[in-house]
Amino acid sequence: MEITISSIMKRGKLIILSGPSGVGKGTVRMALMARPELSLFYSVSMTTRPMRAGEAEGREYYFVTKEEFLRKVEEGNFLEWNEFVGNYYGTPKDKVEEKLNEGKNVLLEIDVNGARKVMENCKDAVTIFLIPPSIEKLEERIRGRRTEEESIIQERLAKAESELAQAHLYKHTICNDKVEKAADEIAKIILA
Ligand code: 5GP
Repeated sequence: MEITISSIMKRGKLIILSGPSGVGKGTVRMALMARPELSLFYSVSMTTRPMRAGEAEGREYYFVTKEEFLRKVEEGNFLEWNEFVGNYYGTPKDKVEEKLNEGKNVLLEIDVNGARKVMENCKDAVTIFLIPPSIEKLEERIRGRRTEEESIIQERLAKAESELAQAHLYKHTICNDKVEKAADEIAKIILA
């Protein structure tokens, strides 16, 4: 057997981070990405939702039209994808495989339905569900963004409730009261 660098390199871990809209997944993710010892690669998803102020193409998401997204679905380009409050979101497959093979720990920040699909195929994924300190705090954060109209806010709040009820599907539940504390707890789990 040929011995190559990749054949002796340990495959990275697949890490799924979920939690209701407004819980602060993005902020916790950024705190984690700032820790080189975790050797993380963040898998940037593709979405059809409009870009929010402060977001950039290829950083938060790859923003595409519904037609482009559905073409990628047809071509089998997603590890998983889902519809969330009227828009599509999906995890591009190729990069995830490539980075895991390079020994990187790959972080997916995806909703509960998408996470369930990945869990079925990848039993050893490290699954983490982020919860808010309270429902009131969550609503405050969703409204504080001031980027969505009331009907969308209501849909996101309803979705948040149904997602919170599925926290038990995850191996770990972390409360995002203080970002650095939540990041510390997640870092310990990843390094364990
Ligand atoms: P937002 O519009 O607030 O950025 O994201 C809405 C929801 O979609 C969040 O729960 C987020 O984690 C989830 N999401 C983001 N990317 C993906 C993805 O690639 N797949 C799935 N299933 N959900 C995603």
